[in-house]
Formats: sequence, structure tokens, C-alpha cells
Amino acid sequence: MTERPPVIVGAGPAGIRAAATLAAAGLAPIVIDEAPRSGGQIYRRPPHGFARSYRTLYGFDAAKARRLHETFDGLARKIDYRPDTLVWDLRDGVMHCLSAGASREVAYRDIILAPGARDRIIPFPGWTLPGVYTLGGAQIALKAQGCAVGARVVFMGTGPLLYLVAYQYAKAGGGVAAVLDTTPFAAKRRALPGLLRGGRTFAKGLWYVARLRARGIVMASGIKAIAAQGEGAVSAFVYQDAAGSRKTIACDAIAFGYGLSSETQLADLAEIPFAFDSLQQQFLPQRDIAGRTPVRGVYVAGDGSGIAGADAAELAGERAALALLEDRGLAADGARVQTLERALRRISRFRAGLEAAFPFPVDVAAKIPDETVLCRCEGVTAGELRQSARDIDGGDINRAKAFSRCGMGRCQARTCGPSAAIVMAAALNVPLERAGRLRGQPPVKPIPLAVSHE
Ligand SMILES: Cc1cc2nc3c(=O)[nH]c(=O)nc-3n(C[C@H](O)[C@H](O)[C@H](O)COP(=O)(O)OP(=O)(O)OC[C@H]3O[C@@H](n4cnc5c(N)ncnc54)[C@H](O)[C@@H]3O)c2cc1C
Repeated sequence: MTERPPVIVGAGPAGIRAAATLAAAGLAPIVIDEAPRSGGQIYRRPPHGFARSYRTLYGFDAAKARRLHETFDGLARKIDYRPDTLVWDLRDGVMHCLSAGASREVAYRDIILAPGARDRIIPFPGWTLPGVYTLGGAQIALKAQGCAVGARVVFMGTGPLLYLVAYQYAKAGGGVAAVLDTTPFAAKRRALPGLLRGGRTFAKGLWYVARLRARGIVMASGIKAIAAQGEGAVSAFVYQDAAGSRKTIACDAIAFGYGLSSETQLADLAEIPFAFDSLQQQFLPQRDIAGRTPVRGVYVAGDGSGIAGADAAELAGERAALALLEDRGLAADGARVQTLERALRRISRFRAGLEAAFPFPVDVAAKIPDETVLCRCEGVTAGELRQSARDIDGGDINRAKAFSRCGMGRCQARTCGPSAAIVMAAALNVPLERAGRLRGQPPVKPIPLAVSHE
């Protein structure tokens, strides 16, 4: 009997390197991605017909983007690539994939999950007003469509993406009203030794900040978001500055975010055990450095297994593919394995520095005002979740979800989940890891009711 081809979910940096490694070993993996084109988030390709140079689209990362795209294009005859295909469920060796309105089953024996990450947000009063976007959403509008989300945009939150997206907007001619970081400047100064390990990546960050300053853009650290205001759409952002003064800044859009969360629902459905990661303050699928999980035949790679950035995603994708080859009893280059693992360890030390410089502000999430909508799909406020948490007294977040409907809507808690867990832990006065995590449920992303099954 011929062996089933390995399956890779995700055609970002991790999935592409995994595909190239498996193809080089003579296997013809199935590569599934819900996006119409390969590249993932950072190296997202614009729709066909959009002619913009690599330099314009990817800046300092143009050469890396081109290399990765060319690698993937060169695999066309060696892999079974299925774009525009969403994996919405997965169990017992079978994936359910939605494409062109029809759901098909794909059986697998070995699978590499490389689904990347999403924005990590903390709701604040007014965040559901039209004109409020995530940082990633604002960047996608620019990268994929050449559109700005507003003519006068406030960028707010923390993390490297805050400065990067603001810089990209400014460079593209978009109006940047302000760049407001919730992390105090002193925390960044303390994190400097760790950041210096980042070499070129750190230097790029300094460049973005310097260019924003040179344009005279308002920049501040240690701020606290108070509210987005506006009648029908956002027209101002109100915040408290580091000195405690209340400030209002006029704007027609806000882009906000606090780093990234790993997309872990498929790993959950594959029954990989999870463990709390105190550095990233989130539950992550258990895996070794090679991407092997405790579930035989299931590997994880890239930001979907823990946020480490695009370079690490490429290395981890290749390493996971080599682990798959090893486990199939096929040849894997031992020297290359060593090199990859060394590089991954080096990046993870820099990552610790980044997390210290831009920590996820757990205290901000814990104090979301009672009347603020936390779960926008189901219209559940932070106060309602707190009340459910007290009613069930000591239960985990999945029980609070059942009582309050928080996280039960279209997005399956992908948006509110991280903050909901913190609100709940604070309400029960227990450490975050004790509040538990919202279990992944199919469909992991919305699918049409009228889907046909083939
Ligand atoms: C919105 C956003 C913007 C970012 N911008 C930058 C940036 O400008 N610079 C930077 O350095 N880093 C950026 N990052 C981080 C960077 O994207 C990652 O570090 C890097 O892309 C990780 O590579 P990956 O292969 O793990 O995942 P990704 O590049 O995210 O690729 C994952 C792929 O999996 C696919 N996928 C996910 N779930 C499913 C599913 N259920 N079914 C089918 N396909 C699925 C996605 O469509 C995607 O193509 C960004 C992250 C996000 C979320």
C-alpha cells in the first residue's frame, strides 16, 4: 500500500520551508491554506494584477520575501497545493476542508500544523466603533490592497508590530496621528541587554522609531487607553499619558494590538496536550524543539506553536519536516538538524528580550471596565463575565463560557479569549494558568450554513 502524503496546514514561512524539505526528500506533501496566495502574514502576496515592487511591499525583508516566494513557486510540480481551502475541523486522522462552498474530507497520517498567529487584543471602551482596527488588520489593508484604514490613524498598544505598521503607514503616505505605547519606557530600557541579542532585527526596530520621530509624529510610552469616542464612527482617542494627564487626540481610525496569539485550535482538535507558557502568558501546544508533539504523526511549526517571528518560522518548518522524515525512517541531514536547533535556540533568547520590552499588559486586561463589551460576537461585557466567574466560583473558563456565552460566537473566542481568561482569573483571584483556556471547537473559523459535503 502506498503511504499517504504528509499534509501541511499553512503556506507561510513555516509551511513553505516544511514543504520544500519534504519535496526535496521525494515526498509530495499536500499544502493547504485558506489564503488565495502563499506567503503567510509577513510575506503576504498582493492579489494577482497588483504590481508593486518587493522593496515597496516588504522593505528590509524584500530579499527574504522574494526567496521564499520563489522557493514555493519552484515547488509547483512537486507538491499538491490547495489554496483558498480552510481546514475547519480535524479529528481521528481526517481533516474537514472547505473550498468553493464545498466541504471535503482529507485523510492524513502525518501532519505539520503551521497556521501562524493572530492579533492579541485587549478590549477598551469604544473598541467596537467603526474605524477601530487591529494592527494586523490595518497592515493587511495596506499590504494586500494598498489602502489605509484612515487618513489620521492613532496606533496604540504595544509590541514590535506597533512601530512597524505605523512606519509602513507613514512611509506609504498615510496620516499617522500618534504612536502610543502602553509599555513604560523604563521597561524597554531594562530589556535592552536582551534586545541587543536581536542584532539586525533590533536595528530595524530602532530605524522605524527614528523614522517616525523624524517625521514629527507624536509618540509616547507608558500610556493607558481610556476610550475611543465618536458618533457612529471613531473621531477621537482618549488616553492617560505616563505623567497621569488625560489627553484627547482627534483621529478617524485607531489601529491597536498587544502582540500576537498563536492559532492553536487545530492543535487542540488534534488532541495535543497544552501547557502554560509564562513568558508569552498563553497556553501553547506541547512540543519539542523539532516540532514533535506527544501525538504521533502530528507536528507543529512557526508562530502557531509559540510566537517567535518569521525567521524562526522558516527554521522550525524545516526542522519539523526533518523530524517527520526521521520518524518515517527516511534520511535526514544530522548536521543540518544541529544547525537549525542552534539557530532556533538563539532566536528564542532574543524572544525573551522582546517579551520583556513589550510585555502583554495583564493588569490592563484584568481591569477592563465592567460595562465594556468583551465578546463582541455575543455582546458580553467584562462585568457579565466577572459575574459568571463568581457564580461558578472556582470553575474553569469553559464553564464561564457556558454560563455567559463569552467566546461562543463566530470568532470562537479567537478575539476575546486571551482577555477573557485574564478577566476571569482576576475575578477569581487565581493565577492565569488556573483559569484554564478556552478549548478549540469546530468550525475553527466561520463557515457558511449552506455548505455542501462531498
Ligand atoms: C496580521 C499579522 C501581521 C504580521 N505582520 C508582520 C510583519 O509585517 N513583520 C513581521 O516580522 N512579522 C509580522 N507578523 C508575524 C509574522 O507573520 C510571523 O512571525 C510569521 O509569518 C510566522 O510564519 P508562520 O508560517 O508561522 O505563519 P503565517 O505566516 O501566519 O502563515 C500561516 C498560514 O496558515 C494559514 N492558515 C491558518 N489557519 C488555517 C486554517 N485553519 N486552514 C487553512 N489555512 C490556515 C494562513 O492563511 C497563513 O497563510 C504578523 C502577524 C500577523 C498575525
